[in-house]
Amino acid sequence: GATIGILGGGQLGRMLSVAASRLGFRCHVFEPAPEPPAGQVAAHVTTAPYEDTAALARFAASVDVVTYEFENIPTAALDAIEAVVPIRPGRKALAVSQDRLVEKSFLNGLGLATAPFAAVDDEVDLAEALDEIGVPGILKTRRFGYDGKGQARIMGPEDGPAALADMSGAPAIFEGFVEFSSEISVIAARGASGEVACFDPGANVHRDGILRTTTVPAPLTVAQRTDAVLLAGRILNALDYVGVMGVELFVTKAGLIVNEIAPRVHNSGHWTQNGCVIDQFEQHIRAVAGWPLGDGARHSDIVMENLIGEDMDRLPDLAADPKVALHLYGKTETRAGRKMGHTNRWVGPAAS
Ligand code: ATP
Ligand code: MG
Ligand code: MG
Repeated sequence: GATIGILGGGQLGRMLSVAASRLGFRCHVFEPAPEPPAGQVAAHVTTAPYEDTAALARFAASVDVVTYEFENIPTAALDAIEAVVPIRPGRKALAVSQDRLVEKSFLNGLGLATAPFAAVDDEVDLAEALDEIGVPGILKTRRFGYDGKGQARIMGPEDGPAALADMSGAPAIFEGFVEFSSEISVIAARGASGEVACFDPGANVHRDGILRTTTVPAPLTVAQRTDAVLLAGRILNALDYVGVMGVELFVTKAGLIVNEIAPRVHNSGHWTQNGCVIDQFEQHIRAVAGWPLGDGARHSDIVMENLIGEDMDRLPDLAADPKVALHLYGKTETRAGRKMGHTNRWVGPAAS
């Protein structure tokens, strides 16, 4: 049987491993941290840093294809792997999504709208950006940010110095604040032979920069829904993409604005586990293994809720609720802000 290599052993790697094993694959997870959540599921785990190119080469030699659960894989690590075995999704998607400046320029180049933005490396750049784009806005590190980390709100010029200090000298991007009525995301898949299948857009609610809930169906018009799916397909095709991608969008009066893309399975796609016959994890494994894509049609209305930190105290109640599907990540240590699991609440059958 074939073996799938997964870079990253967190909850996404774990759920990819579950889906892969259901399809008869073995998984080999590469993860620097000890005792990763995916290690409880995968057949093999390598514990080594991404700088250890010899370990990466051995890992690559033991698998048929490599995929990943996070986009911030160092370039040298990718080179070491790609010398041995293909990486899916490919390098183009990684290069674009690792850097917010490259990402937004790429999206604008496709004719897709983003927040107005400017590169900021120092005070002079920031003053110019504030002048040009105006406030309010958000200063973000170009690389490595997630769950709202590496971001500072700027309400007026007086907030500039503190925001810049928050970047700790890292290259940054200033984004104008988008007045959105809601946030949605499209989980989209593209197969090795170029076919595209999108899941229904979900409506996302964030708190403190972290996703809390995703609800399907999202309250969208038919036109908005069509727009969202078509623009996601455009992004996948432009990147010659193979796998599942999360496309985060702002819904505004002026239409859909792309916030960011993630070249992997996405937290806002967890509802598919209980809302679709083929979920995002199986869809991703199918794509990277070169299988045909499954049908992403939605059979149920679902509310996905993340269990973060002390949300785990509600576990007894959630376990007793017959309409709640529980997905726990096997993390032993609960910390504030740490994603411990999620629930998919079955709301009813999807309107057909
Ligand atoms: P993720 O965990 O999704 O990767 P992240 O750290 O990359 O998050 P963003 O998605 O850039 O962060 O921002 C987090 C949230 O902050 C967004 O979902 C949105 O609610 C808000 N936000 C970010 N940028 C803007 C913007 N330009 N205008 C308005 N709201 C924004
Ligand atoms: Mg992000
Ligand atoms: Mg985001």
